Amino acid sequence: MRFLILSDIHANWEALQAVMEHAEGRYDRIVCCGDILGYGADPNAVTEWVRANVGSIIRGNHDKASVGLEDLEWFNPVAREASLWTIRNLEPDHAEYVRKLPRGPLPVDGFQILHGSPLDEDEYLVGIGDAGHAFPYLDRAVNFFGHTHVQGGFVWSMTRIEPIRVPRDNGEARMELKADHVYLANPGSVGQPRDGDARACYAVYESEGRVLVYYRVVYDVAAAQDKIRKAGLPETLATRLALGR
Ligand code: ZN
Repeated sequence: MRFLILSDIHANWEALQAVMEHAEGRYDRIVCCGDILGYGADPNAVTEWVRANVGSIIRGNHDKASVGLEDLEWFNPVAREASLWTIRNLEPDHAEYVRKLPRGPLPVDGFQILHGSPLDEDEYLVGIGDAGHAFPYLDRAVNFFGHTHVQGGFVWSMTRIEPIRVPRDNGEARMELKADHVYLANPGSVGQPRDGDARACYAVYESEGRVLVYYRVVYDVAAAQDKIRKAGLPETLATRLALGR
């Protein structure tokens, strides 16, 4: 089975469309590691698409914030403003769906998906130290997470933990997963990459062969920025898309 792994779409319809066009024919099922909402100007189109197409999904911190399940005190001013905008603009039926999304980790056919860390969906796994705290709490060898918006992740060989470095040159990086290693893999963010590369991210995991492929896709950043500005969302949310920050 080939799984399309999506994360952190963040209401960016243009990025999602580009990813789905690029991924056509490469997958059998779609899973999502959370944060379909927040920051972007297309919460309704994205949620509608997710409801119709994604088989397994967990909530992210911005999904909680966008439907009133999170105390916005903890958000920076820009994220808070975007959350309040989403609360005002998300259709009630979509909000109800998002409110019921499960918390990760969620088992999916031999692997599992989570948003932040296995213990706390709001916690960021940024460095080796963070990953070191997380690995002992994973009960699967293959795990997909999001939240940091950085494509890559970590691998634990039982003697040491190393970052997964994804070469970016041609937008496609293939990795065969070893049987005795544990993986915390991040497909990267579809709708707001933060690793200095503006291209949308996704990954495909082929479970029988244990092959993981990371992808980067060019999308219409200008169109997404235009919608953010027209919606009256903070300007920084538009400018950062072009920078991949
Ligand atoms: Zn996110």
